[in-house]
Amino acid sequence: MSVTPHLFIPGPTNIPDAVRMAMNVPMIDMRSGEYPKLTLPIFEDLKKVFKMKDGRVFIFPSSGTGAWESAIQNTLKPGDKVLMSRFGQFSLLWVDMAERLGLKVELCDEEWGTGVPLEKYADILAKDKAHEIKAVFATHNETATGVTSDIAGVRKALDAAKHPALLMVDGVSSVGSLDMRMGEWGVDCCVSGSQKGFMLPTGLGILAVSQKALDANKANGGMPRCFLAWEDHIKTNDLGYFPYTPATQLLQGLRCSLDLIFAEGLENVFARHHRLADTVSAILAPEGIDSAQIVKTAYYRYNTSLGVGLNKVAGRVFRIGHLGSLDEFMVGGVLFAVEMTMKDCGVPVKFGSGTGAAAEYFNKTSTKAAELPKAKAA
Ligand SMILES: *Cc1c(COP(=O)(O)O)cnc(C)c1O
Repeated sequence: MSVTPHLFIPGPTNIPDAVRMAMNVPMIDMRSGEYPKLTLPIFEDLKKVFKMKDGRVFIFPSSGTGAWESAIQNTLKPGDKVLMSRFGQFSLLWVDMAERLGLKVELCDEEWGTGVPLEKYADILAKDKAHEIKAVFATHNETATGVTSDIAGVRKALDAAKHPALLMVDGVSSVGSLDMRMGEWGVDCCVSGSQKGFMLPTGLGILAVSQKALDANKANGGMPRCFLAWEDHIKTNDLGYFPYTPATQLLQGLRCSLDLIFAEGLENVFARHHRLADTVSAILAPEGIDSAQIVKTAYYRYNTSLGVGLNKVAGRVFRIGHLGSLDEFMVGGVLFAVEMTMKDCGVPVKFGSGTGAAAEYFNKTSTKAAELPKAKAA
């Protein structure tokens, strides 16, 4: 088949041609005097994407999971109490990591398909007069279910209790697609990765940290660490270098994806995602229909990758990833494939019901009309 596979999973996302080509360049010397010309502006531009008011950004040659681990290892000690919630596969995995790294997790176990339980958080924080809780965790966008949580609300709960705990946010599938206001929301560690909103291959763990997180790191020392240790990066990053071999080609790609994001305008990128239904949709298959069969059928019959249901919702849910490099045409295309696939799998779907509704919505809410080039006067 000569047609490129249609990729609608919530990461890795589609890579714009400009980004792909920006990585197809000769390797450069990571210790040369020129190298900081690539790296220093990237650190500064990332701060704009995270909307930080202070602090710094770390870039690890890892996936997002590495940035998760770095956030914990550099700010918390084994035995520290933390507040977390679990409502999907990614929030589940972060809890699992925290426990394996020796943290004492006070866990809010929520129904999958919900988000961070703000009232419970507020209640628990208000009762923690001795400030035993050292950090509060929140998964901004639970990629397993498509549910976005209210990070400003978590900040409110902390402030209402006058609680000094660090605020740790997983923004792997939100940063660059949904608004992330680290400074305004008082987020201390925000975890991201290259293969979602940044439209790159997997391979960069991107961790933005506030000055408060840097101070906590200095004050309590964190836990044993090496690969993901902040202090080694701080020493070298300020000069534009890294403590070990950086993923230079991915940094070249990141330069290009940041250029694309700023050329479109960060707020326009968010507005586009909002219009195209944010980042990921989780669809509950009708009773008696195996959602894994839907995903398999779409792949083999229509050259279309959808996201499977993970863990608890395996076989019940399938997902459409629609974040990163995406437009109306692509949303229409995947809905077309999904309609056909669902019919193939025995769901009595009416052809055109989804694609038609999408066309109707996009037509009514189009913002492009104003941008049509004006005919030149004769
Ligand atoms: C993808 C994802 C992760 C995991 O990132 P990896 O790059 O696969 O390590 C963590 N959290 C969320 C919300 C994600 O979407």
